[in-house]
Amino acid sequence: MATVAEALAPKYSGDTRADMLFNWSSDFFYSGILNYIPNSNNTIYYSFNTNNVSRVPWHGSVALNNVEGFNNQQKVATQEALNYVSDITGIHFQYTDDVNQANLFFGNADIVGSSNTMGLTLPYLTQDYKADKYGNVTYYHPMSVIALNKSNHFAYDLMNPVKGNDGYATILHELGHFLGLQHPNNNPNSSNTEWTIMSYVGDRTRSTFSPCDLFALQWLYGGDGLAGNYGINSTYGTSLVSYNTALNQNAQQHITEISVAYLSYFGRPADVSGANYWAENLGNMLPSFSQSDESKNLFGSEFSKDQINQFYLNLFNRNADDAGLDYWYNEVTSGNISAGNLAVSLATSALSQTNTADFFSVYNKLSACETFTWIMDRQDEQIAYANNVNSVRAKLQTIGSTNPVNDADISFYLDTLL
Ligand SMILES: [Zn+2]
Repeated sequence: MATVAEALAPKYSGDTRADMLFNWSSDFFYSGILNYIPNSNNTIYYSFNTNNVSRVPWHGSVALNNVEGFNNQQKVATQEALNYVSDITGIHFQYTDDVNQANLFFGNADIVGSSNTMGLTLPYLTQDYKADKYGNVTYYHPMSVIALNKSNHFAYDLMNPVKGNDGYATILHELGHFLGLQHPNNNPNSSNTEWTIMSYVGDRTRSTFSPCDLFALQWLYGGDGLAGNYGINSTYGTSLVSYNTALNQNAQQHITEISVAYLSYFGRPADVSGANYWAENLGNMLPSFSQSDESKNLFGSEFSKDQINQFYLNLFNRNADDAGLDYWYNEVTSGNISAGNLAVSLATSALSQTNTADFFSVYNKLSACETFTWIMDRQDEQIAYANNVNSVRAKLQTIGSTNPVNDADISFYLDTLL
C-alpha cells in the first residue's frame, strides 16, 4: 500500500519529451495521482449529471455561470474520446448518474473571467486523503469537472464536437489534464500540437493524442490502467516503453530468429502478424520469403546480384565486394542455398565476429528491430507500421555500427507514425 508522501512525490522519467507534460504542484493535478485510488478496480466513474458542476467554487479568477448539461452530440463525442483514452491508457470508464460515485463531471457553462477559454478542467474538488497511522492511503476519491465554454467564439464547435473539429480536440485536451498532463513546460504557448495536444499552438483539430502525450501517458499508466502491472504505483513500475505485447508465445520466444530474417532479407522489423504466423512455421519462413509479394516488389521475380547487394546494405550499410557477389550469386542460382538462407547467413556470420564494424551494425539494427516489433501491442500501432513500411525501412538504414538507438527513442518514433 502506498503512503500519501509516495503519492505526492514527483516521478519524472528523465526524458523531457514526457516530463515537460508533468506537474507535481498542488495547484493543479498531480501527474499520475489516479493510480493511488485505493481499490479503484481500474475504473473511473464519469457523469453528465451537472449537480456538482454547479457547485464548483471560484478557481483563481475563474468561475462557472449558467451551467447546463451536455447535449446528445457532446455526450456521443465524450464517450468516443473516453473509449480512445481507454485504448491508450487501459483505464476503464464507467458512466454513473450518482454524483457521489462519479470522479469526473462534464457540463457547459459561461466561463467567467476567461472568455477566451474553450474548456476548463478544474482540479480535483476533493483532495481529502484518509490515511492510517502509518501514512498509507486508505481513501481517496478524486472529483473533477470538465466544462466547455458557451461564451467562447468557437462555441458552435464546442456544442457540436465531432472528430476533426476543435470541439472534439478540446474534449481530448481537457481529458489530458484530467489524466495528469499539463501544458508543455507549464506554458500552453510552448511546443505545438504536432508534438502535444496540450499546446495551443498549431492545428487544434486533432482527434488523437500526439507523440509526446502518448509517451507521457505510457509513463504514467503503462497501458494497463490504474495501478496494474505497469505505470506509477504498479507491480513492475514505470517505463517509457510498452512491452505489453500482441506477440504470441512462440513469436516472443523466437523474436530474434524472426527479426534477423526480416532485417536481412526485407530490411525492416517484423510486423506482429508476420511474426505470429512464422513463429508457427519457422522451417518454411526463409524458403518462402523469395516467393512473397513483398520480395517480388522489392527485387523482381528473378534472383539477381542486386538483391544480394541489398542484403549487404540492409545489414552493413555498405555495398558487397565483387568477389562476394559472384560467389553468392553462384551459390543461390545453383541451388546450394536459398536467397532467404543467404541473407540470414550473412547476418549470423557477422554476429559471430564480435568487435568488427559489421558486428555492431547488425547488432544495433537487430536490437532496434526486435524492440520495434515487441512494442506494437495496439492495433493502431500495427496499422501505422503497415502504412509506413518504407519510412521505417529508411529509418533503419540510418542506424549503423556507431549509433545504436535506445528503446525509448524507438517507442517515440513509433508514436510519430500514428
Ligand atoms: Zn489546457
